[in-house]
Amino acid sequence: MAASFYPTMPTPTNCWSSKAEQSTPERSPMRTLIEHLEFAFLVDSRDTVLRDASIVIENDRILDIGPAEEVRARHEGGKFDRVMDGRMLGICPGFVDSHVHLSETLSRAVFPDNLNTRAWVFHWAKPFYAQITEEDEYWGALLGITEMLRNGTTCFIDMGSQYDPGITVRAMEKTGIRGVTGRHAADNPPAELPRGWTEEMAKHHFFPSAEAALAELEACVRKYDGALGGRVRCWVNIEGKEPCTLELHVGAQKLAERLGVGTTYHLATSIEEAKVCEGKYGMWPITRIDRAGGIGSNLVIAHGAAVSDEEVSLLARRGAKVAFCPCSSFKLGKGATAIGKYPEMVAAGVTVGLGTDGVSAAGNMNLMRQMLLVAGMFKDARMKPDVFTARQALRAATIDGAKAAMWDHEIGSLEVGKKADFILFDLDHIEWTPFHDPLQALVFSASTASIAQTWVDGQVLFSEGKVHGVDEAQIRRKARELAAAAVKRAGLHEEGVETTTTLYDSGN
Ligand SMILES: [Zn+2]
Repeated sequence: MAASFYPTMPTPTNCWSSKAEQSTPERSPMRTLIEHLEFAFLVDSRDTVLRDASIVIENDRILDIGPAEEVRARHEGGKFDRVMDGRMLGICPGFVDSHVHLSETLSRAVFPDNLNTRAWVFHWAKPFYAQITEEDEYWGALLGITEMLRNGTTCFIDMGSQYDPGITVRAMEKTGIRGVTGRHAADNPPAELPRGWTEEMAKHHFFPSAEAALAELEACVRKYDGALGGRVRCWVNIEGKEPCTLELHVGAQKLAERLGVGTTYHLATSIEEAKVCEGKYGMWPITRIDRAGGIGSNLVIAHGAAVSDEEVSLLARRGAKVAFCPCSSFKLGKGATAIGKYPEMVAAGVTVGLGTDGVSAAGNMNLMRQMLLVAGMFKDARMKPDVFTARQALRAATIDGAKAAMWDHEIGSLEVGKKADFILFDLDHIEWTPFHDPLQALVFSASTASIAQTWVDGQVLFSEGKVHGVDEAQIRRKARELAAAAVKRAGLHEEGVETTTTLYDSGN
């Protein structure tokens, strides 16, 4: 690649292979003991919360975790490279953001907060993303990952790059985070291009056919899935809903199945979208895709706000997952509490993870905010304090997100043999003073301000107030410059940008 605005990989493309990296080292294992943690949320099948706990980390994995005395007895005389005092610290599995747009991180607080979803997407978000360059995307991904690590997010399902996913992979390499990414594809442009969209942008954004889109997505999966020692997964990601044909929705799920990976797309994101779908096809979006055979266990539906009771059972039968984004729903008025069936989905056995949807739709990349919202919104709306409790909120932010990412055999809970991806909370902090039940304190009292450290793959990526491996001041400076220029290029600083839409209402 001619452009040199972001660091290129020093080695050829076959270095992406995880096997190559795993088979080389003959070094003795690095062992860390963190002892006497005040609490440990294991988020195992019984939601165990230990008090006075210790954890042993060997290289990238959890070698042992349990009550401090038991761990001590099991490792009597054992040698550790590093011993940390866990008193006044609490441990929690790293958060998994089940739906985020890393390529949109430069659009913080650009679009109005009083528009319905479709006008917001078609007349504001799309013209902005049409102006996003590869350089913008690289710095946006670095900025977003930095925010995630500061907020305890250790893994994500990113909707994908508008260019080559290698841009995001490079940002992941620099920061050390884990995640799913891909190439964000669509194939169904509107009949007439609205203001702010150019022919060139439409050509860049929309593949000429589902077949062409799927060929490109397959090439991306083959190139990047398993990169960086397995920290990167690459999926068959598409935008979903109106900008994608039925053929692309179904084809993405089938292709992902054939490649042994997942797929994710937006669907049933608002009641308007469901009504437009009903008007055109006589059924709601999830039913429409299912009748064409496209709903499967490797699919993560982003939002899933407009879902009927029958569709809840259908999702459970098919094993499809849902990424619920509370902040995005709040900001755009998607109706999570009015029409959303997230508690019913959980009761029916559907895996519901939590997503932020990124800074454009939600304003932040903070899973703790999503946990706080989800642990209260359904209780309040239904006047039932036992609906979607703090316990379920923590599961949604960790193990259920890991299940959505099809990664729960390695992440999402603190169990022996799993990856050492976790957060340490500083309990000598006003937010934790005093507390009795750590779960309630985590969800209703604490914020990310008390996160002391974020670990991924046994490495400390955030500590002492700094994300390591990056120059945060430089990222902030660069992001400010690039974002201001993109807003100008997209014309979003001007008067008269549409606030309603009729796009896709009829025709394609
Ligand atoms: Zn989204």
